[in-house]
Amino acid sequence: MQLKHAALVIVDISGYTQFLRQRSVTLLHAEEIITQLLESVIDIAEYPLVLNKLEGDAAFLYAILDDNHEKAAKDILKQTLAFFPAFRRTATELSHDTSYCSCNACTQIDRLKLKAFIHHGEVVLKKIRQFEELAGENVILIHRLLKNSVDADEYILMTKSFSALAGEVPSFSKKSYREKYDNADPVQIDVFFPPAPIPPLELHTYKAKKPRMFMAQIKRLFSHAFGKSKNQNFKHIENEKIGFFAYIKEMVG
Ligand SMILES: [Zn+2]
Repeated sequence: MQLKHAALVIVDISGYTQFLRQRSVTLLHAEEIITQLLESVIDIAEYPLVLNKLEGDAAFLYAILDDNHEKAAKDILKQTLAFFPAFRRTATELSHDTSYCSCNACTQIDRLKLKAFIHHGEVVLKKIRQFEELAGENVILIHRLLKNSVDADEYILMTKSFSALAGEVPSFSKKSYREKYDNADPVQIDVFFPPAPIPPLELHTYKAKKPRMFMAQIKRLFSHAFGKSKNQNFKHIENEKIGFFAYIKEMVG
């Protein structure tokens, strides 16, 4: 068990709860869409920023900071900014790919938006087998910040102490808030809003790959059935809705 200074980043996809409906096809497709969107973000994260775990419709990343906190904070902010167009591109691709499907998940991909939360501080790092477990007040705090008084669905939220290190976000507008959780002291946060909805990265060479969704589901069918699923964190969705038999039912039905 070690005490480390780390930057903590959560990316959270909003619109997910409204997105879930009763029908199993929608759930299957919603899970696939969310997974692919989270992967599009995680895939471009670079050292020292690493994925800790998927948490439903969110991903928790962290970076152990060396002595130069300011330089690291600027790098992490730069990486976080790049998540947004990558997310938007994958969302646009998925909309094209799933244009054959009229389910609630596939027709509402455009409504999904990305939020990012960044904080830094001391954390307890425990290694359990190959997994790094992060704990401590700062880990609790960044998770608490997911529930806040900011009325928007696309932004970068930083604790004041992180934004003091990282500096301003060019062209984003900034608003400061105070959030209060239980009996703890209020938390000062700076929230940065993009000037307009963030456009996707260039798409002109993109051709819709209709089989993508289908192939992705076949692959996941095998991982659900025979291997360790990458998406063990989708525990809030009942297994019969995303498990082996749901996939079979969708394919034959
Ligand atoms: Zn669908």
